Amino acid sequence: MKEKNMLQILRESRYTVVLSGIELLGESGYPLLRDGDESYDIESKYGYSFEEIFSSGFYSARKELFFRFYKEVILKAAEIPPGEGFQNLRKLQDMGLIHSIITRRIAGLEDRVGCRNVLNLKGTVFNNKCPNCGKHYSMEYVKNAKGVPLCEDCLVAIRPEVCLFGEMIDNGLMTRAAGEVEKADVLLVLGSTLHSPLCSQMLQYYTGTHLILVTESEHYSDQQADVIVYGRSDDFVRSLAEEYEKEQKG
Ligand SMILES: [Zn+2]
Repeated sequence: MKEKNMLQILRESRYTVVLSGIELLGESGYPLLRDGDESYDIESKYGYSFEEIFSSGFYSARKELFFRFYKEVILKAAEIPPGEGFQNLRKLQDMGLIHSIITRRIAGLEDRVGCRNVLNLKGTVFNNKCPNCGKHYSMEYVKNAKGVPLCEDCLVAIRPEVCLFGEMIDNGLMTRAAGEVEKADVLLVLGSTLHSPLCSQMLQYYTGTHLILVTESEHYSDQQADVIVYGRSDDFVRSLAEEYEKEQKG
């Protein structure tokens, strides 16, 4: 289907929800920590896999190493700015073509470009809290702390408000996300298979008219989509934004 028709679908939709997947993150130059070369690098440098070290069990038992990894890998990656795909996502929202965004990524890229109505299911690295007194801390505070970051008042370890492996996503957030998907005429999946954890969690609530999937490679689950576009998500959103701008001028 051509972008023109796609634009038409989005125009006619009363409510469009985006599921923002991992490919969009990769297109911004972010390392894909579970796959690719990075996972091997993590294992040889820290002696544990990404899933092992970024888990609630590890956080409880080995805070020193957890925070070393967290600062050197997770917060280091978060220094990479949101790429063009996210900038154009914001444009589509300003144009009124998309209404809310749901993601499991923790870099907060949608928030950083100024998108609104973003549900970060697994939290973001920008929220950190003392589990004892509830005081909030910035990402910079965590990054600049020597070793384990401690609450200034209680001297207990500050907890990044992100969902670690082995932890459940906050119930209230899941309910809100389900509500968004239920409202959607159009569900736009950017850069993920329909088999991903994000889609597996959300698709059950979807009863709209068009499920649009944009992904770089084929997967057996693709056929569930009403419209499939194989390619980069950042290219897809850019061409949509350009098409819209051209029409406005014409
Ligand atoms: Zn405290």
